[in-house]
Amino acid sequence: MKKIKKNVLIFEEDEDTLKFLRSFFKGRNDYSAYFIKGNKKDFKRELEDKKPDVLIINSPDGLEQVNPSDVGCPVIALISGNITGGIRSVVRSDAEYYLITPFHKEDLEHKLRLAIERKSWFENLYTQKKDLDALIEFTYFISSTLNPKEVIYIFVKKISEMMKVARCSVISIGVEEQKHAYIISASDDPEIKKIKLDLTKYPEIERAVTLRKPVIIKDALKDPLMKDVRDIIAPLAVRSILVIPMIFRDEVIGTLLLRTTSIERKFTKREIKICTSIANASANAFYNAVLYDRLEKEKTKFERLAVVDYLTGIYNIRYFYNRLDEEFSRAVRYNFPLSCMMLDIDHFKRINDTYGHRIGDIVLREFSQLVRGRVRKSDIFARYGGEEFILLLPQTNLKGAKDKAELVMKTVKEHQFMGIDEGDVVTVSIGIACLSTKKIKTPDELINFADDALFAAKNKGRDQIVIYTKEISK
Ligand code: GH3
Ligand code: MG
Ligand code: MG
Repeated sequence: MKKIKKNVLIFEEDEDTLKFLRSFFKGRNDYSAYFIKGNKKDFKRELEDKKPDVLIINSPDGLEQVNPSDVGCPVIALISGNITGGIRSVVRSDAEYYLITPFHKEDLEHKLRLAIERKSWFENLYTQKKDLDALIEFTYFISSTLNPKEVIYIFVKKISEMMKVARCSVISIGVEEQKHAYIISASDDPEIKKIKLDLTKYPEIERAVTLRKPVIIKDALKDPLMKDVRDIIAPLAVRSILVIPMIFRDEVIGTLLLRTTSIERKFTKREIKICTSIANASANAFYNAVLYDRLEKEKTKFERLAVVDYLTGIYNIRYFYNRLDEEFSRAVRYNFPLSCMMLDIDHFKRINDTYGHRIGDIVLREFSQLVRGRVRKSDIFARYGGEEFILLLPQTNLKGAKDKAELVMKTVKEHQFMGIDEGDVVTVSIGIACLSTKKIKTPDELINFADDALFAAKNKGRDQIVIYTKEISK
């Protein structure tokens, strides 16, 4: 391995000492020596610029100006001239090493070696401690948060910050399905919903899953593994990639995917090791997140099924009644207007008889979707039974309900239903009741009065709107 030269920064003004140092460092291939002259400001700039492995500094003059604990590297103090002042300064300042004139090359050699060994030893210890801290923090975090989805997000976010990568995501690998995977979480998008990935487009993930080992792509634009997908990744500016399998109960249940936009960013052994440890420590939480996600989905499916009418896709009557009670008491409490509309398709029996029951079903479905498209999100539109529908209009007065009914009638009349002959017009009769009618005391009365109005509309010849009044009350 090529030996890397160590940088030595020298802050010294004594001519004899400088002579000794120049001759010591001359022609050496293990050290690069930089001599600085000037004031404290120049020194600071050089310190930032050269990032020395060792600082050689005069004592007491140099040490009076510089505090070794601020330097970030070991310090060797050289004492000449004022010996007692120099030693005192060393003791006061906590400088690790010092040499007293007359200087000998062997002494300096030895002190330099010690200083550099000590530096790398400390650095190792420091990184190990940092890794351990990160691992402890993750484990603590995972066991203290209840929502597994949240755990996974914070997990990818932390890794992306720690590893300084453009994006870190967690990919779930299905047991049944081998060709696809799902992005469960991504550091740059807390809202991300499960995104399906075609694994043939992610050969790096496929390989990590098959080998059950981390896969490192140094440059995605050159690596032979990425040959077939180069066109896809080129515009994404992805350069280096690291994939770490997440193993739970001996099964690869997912991977961590880290991507950077620069080939300068190389993943070190240490980083791979710490990521693997974290991935393993989090595999349990991750497993829960996948399960949780699946359960949530099933739950919404069941909940949806429970409130939706299977044929028309609009709300069923059970859901309607639940909401009716809520909306009714809200309207009474805050004195909000509330209207109810009952709709019945005219001569629907004839549609069934002419075109068949199957076309009848399609008309019911199309009718429902048509009306749903004309009402507000806050309105509750449900199938009441057969070819009869009900629409609850919160915060809507009689005038608003009437306008809406006219719009619905017009829309239905102008619509060409599938399977129905051109010119064979489908019409609807509508009855409306509004809470402002003093007689209405209960939710059931609101529905009954709307139904009475509908009955009146049918009696008056169909294809029309009737608003409930005392007169039509039976
Ligand atoms: P009116 O104008 O008086 O409402 O006449 P109508 O023929 O629409 O009313 P009627 O109550 O006499 O008949 C309703 C018909 O709707 C009879 C029934 O077979 C049909 N129907 C009820 N539910 C469904 C369904 O889910 N699918 C189909 N295709 N037909 C249905
Ligand atoms: Mg009917
Ligand atoms: Mg009917």
